[in-house]
Amino acid sequence: MHLGKFLYFLDFFIIPPVVAYFLYWLPYELSLMSGGVSAAAVLGGFVLWTLIEYAFHRWLLHEWPWLRHLHDEHHEQPEALFGTPPLVGVIQISLCVFVPLWFVEPVTAAGVTAGMLAGYLAYISVHWATHHIREPKLGYLVRARRRHMLHHYRAGQTNFGVSTGFWDWVFGTEHLRNTHKFSR
Ligand SMILES: [Zn+2]
Ligand SMILES: [Zn+2]
Repeated sequence: MHLGKFLYFLDFFIIPPVVAYFLYWLPYELSLMSGGVSAAAVLGGFVLWTLIEYAFHRWLLHEWPWLRHLHDEHHEQPEALFGTPPLVGVIQISLCVFVPLWFVEPVTAAGVTAGMLAGYLAYISVHWATHHIREPKLGYLVRARRRHMLHHYRAGQTNFGVSTGFWDWVFGTEHLRNTHKFSR
């Protein structure tokens, strides 16, 4: 959806305090056991987000007609401020992840939710950077930009991961110019 500057960047400011709120739920006096479980929950949530990011982009944004229509606009005008309206991602992750997990184990629920929200923030930040920082200094951003530009160049048939190329490698949709590898 085409958003004005204010709405486009609002999530960048809303998400950090929400992540901090969920991290606040984790135990203060960290024993090796509870600290390990909390860290694993946050890390697990972050990794889980990268898989959801891949699946959402590949099978919903590119294949579900209603969302495809909206996403096509981003492909046509890659530098315009198209994105998910603010709070939609935060509310969806909180409702779909935190609420059901809370009934199982509240601390783990908070950790996984914090990790997923941090992953979502990383995704929208990296996606913005790939389109707006033309000569990134950071090697990670150079690779992310090349990967995502190839996604646009190949008309959305490859490189669905924005923050990582790992799931493209797993699912065989990775396309790297240097190796001329193309598979789907
Ligand atoms: Zn893009
Ligand atoms: Zn796309």
